[in-house]
Amino acid sequence: MLSFKSQTALAVVLAAACLGTPALAKDVVIHAGHLIDGVGKTPRAQVSILIHDDRITSVEAGFVSPAGAEVIDLSNATVLPGLIDAHDHITGEFDGGNPIVEAVTENGYDSSYVSVGAAWRTLQAGFTTIRDVGGQNEVVIAMKKAIAKGHIPGPRMFVAGEPLGPTGGHGDPANGLDSELSHPGWTDALVDSPEGARRTVRAFHRQGVDLIKIMPSGGVLSIGDNPDEQLMADDEITAVVETAHSLGLKVAAHAHGKTAIDKAVTLGVDSIEHGSFADAESYKLMKAHGTYLVPTLLVGDTAMKIARAHPEQLNPSSAAKALRVGPILLKNLGDAYHAGVKIAFGTDEGLAPHGDNGREFALMVKAGMTPIDAILAATAGGSDLIGDAKDIGSVQAGRYADIIAVAADPLADITELERVQFVMKGGVVYKAAGKPVRP
Ligand SMILES: [Zn+2]
Repeated sequence: MLSFKSQTALAVVLAAACLGTPALAKDVVIHAGHLIDGVGKTPRAQVSILIHDDRITSVEAGFVSPAGAEVIDLSNATVLPGLIDAHDHITGEFDGGNPIVEAVTENGYDSSYVSVGAAWRTLQAGFTTIRDVGGQNEVVIAMKKAIAKGHIPGPRMFVAGEPLGPTGGHGDPANGLDSELSHPGWTDALVDSPEGARRTVRAFHRQGVDLIKIMPSGGVLSIGDNPDEQLMADDEITAVVETAHSLGLKVAAHAHGKTAIDKAVTLGVDSIEHGSFADAESYKLMKAHGTYLVPTLLVGDTAMKIARAHPEQLNPSSAAKALRVGPILLKNLGDAYHAGVKIAFGTDEGLAPHGDNGREFALMVKAGMTPIDAILAATAGGSDLIGDAKDIGSVQAGRYADIIAVAADPLADITELERVQFVMKGGVVYKAAGKPVRP
């Protein structure tokens, strides 16, 4: 029960908030030594970023210090927009434990607590937005709300919930287990008909997801399904895409094999996740349809390392698949990039430790991307794929004050983005001079 005094104070705060009273407003100016604004390819030197509350109001040449504004001095740093990881699984983290034991002993309550630390480390790494493309609906939706309300610190979240896929496909939690075992939640996202697909998309939309994820092909870290095969039928993919788009939701498609990739692109999905065995024809289709590739090199690299050192820590049959797919992801990104396919940055975090997201950049450059294009994939690319470029992905007037800084030029050494020194999200500072700041 609030005391009378605190009730009165609360009433004053609420009234002030309703009236937009300037007493609550905060003006900040960041002096940026160099600015990579997230949309342009050429950095600017000596720029001031003016911020009012949670939004950027203007970006001006030179160092200006408006009266009453708090100055944040990043004049020796390179400033960028908060980064966007378009393929994350914030509610799970690989810990070397037996995956089958974990599948039958851990539930959503367990993963919700894992997520709190994961969200903090992701934010500390400079990722102010993530697209979560696979997690229990209740957990990721509650987490998105908890972060938005300020209950826990973390990146902005756009969530898919559980990936839709067929019985026995990459998203079927019962794969490889005793067929007598069941759990009420295991069938929520199974889709084996167009009618089922429509119903599931609508139910997920009602629950509060921001996009739909589908599994047209088999996967790597699951038991018994083949990454080369198209496992969802055309009419099921079509039903998902049409229903999701009619509700304003985008569709992300996990696909490794060429057949599943080409079919998903032709049937209208918005992004191909992984895309391992795409070829020149696939890239042509992706360009024609405006489909993004989310290359997820970090998970490929991590899975290969685990497969070599500790295959027993992966599901049965996964190590062989990881050793085959890992190197292909790198070649695929290089080929797709040179073919002119749109690229959005995505790590598939959860297998590598949360907070290591920035390691994807060096792999992207190794695959053949220029450092600035790798950065743009995590800024303009991510915001365009998510469909929220008016709010995130660039340092421009009107966008959220999601701003990071690194000590030296990331275009000269892309691994600078593994050592983010400053993080602001929505005008609130979460890291300064390389040290965490708890708001
Ligand atoms: Zn994934």
